[in-house]
Amino acid sequence: MISQKLQDAYNQQINRELFSEYLYLSMAAYFNSAGLKGFENFFLVQVQEERLHAMKMYQFVNDRGGRVYLKAIEVPKTEFKNSLEVFEMAYEHEKLVTSLIHNLMDLAIKENDHAARIHLNWFVEEQVEEESSMETIVNKLKLIGGEGHGVLMMDNELAQRVFTPPPAK
Ligand code: MG
Repeated sequence: MISQKLQDAYNQQINRELFSEYLYLSMAAYFNSAGLKGFENFFLVQVQEERLHAMKMYQFVNDRGGRVYLKAIEVPKTEFKNSLEVFEMAYEHEKLVTSLIHNLMDLAIKENDHAARIHLNWFVEEQVEEESSMETIVNKLKLIGGEGHGVLMMDNELAQRVFTPPPAK
C-alpha cells in the first residue's frame, strides 16, 4: 500500500501533468489562430502525452490501494509573442516538471517504496526525451530567426508528428 505522503505527492504530480496538458492545449490553440497547423499538431500530440502521464500516475495510485484526489487546474497562459516564445516556455516548463519528478523519486527512495521507484524510472527517462524534443525546436527556431520561410518549413515538419501510445504492460 502506498504511504499517505507518497499518495499526496502523486496527487500533486497528477495535477501538474493535467496542467501540462492544459498549457499545451492553450499553445495548440494559439498556433491554430496563427494559422500554423503543424505547430498546432505538435502540441496536440503533446496534449495526449501529458494525459498519458497523468493516467499512468492515476493507475499507479489506484493499483497501490491509494486514492486519487483531483485539485483545481491552474489557468494557463493564453497569449504569446511568437513561436519561439512558446517553445522557450514549453522547454522551461519541462525542466520544471523534471525537477518535480526528481523530487517525487527522492521521496519514493526515502520512503523505501521500491514499486514507486521502479514506476518513476519511466518518468525520469521520459523527461530526458521531453526536454530534448523542446530544446531541439527552440534551437531550430533560433537558427531560422523565428520567422519567414523557415517557420513554414518547420510547420510542415511538425505536422508529421503522431502520438504513439506505449505498449501495454
Ligand atoms: Mg508530463
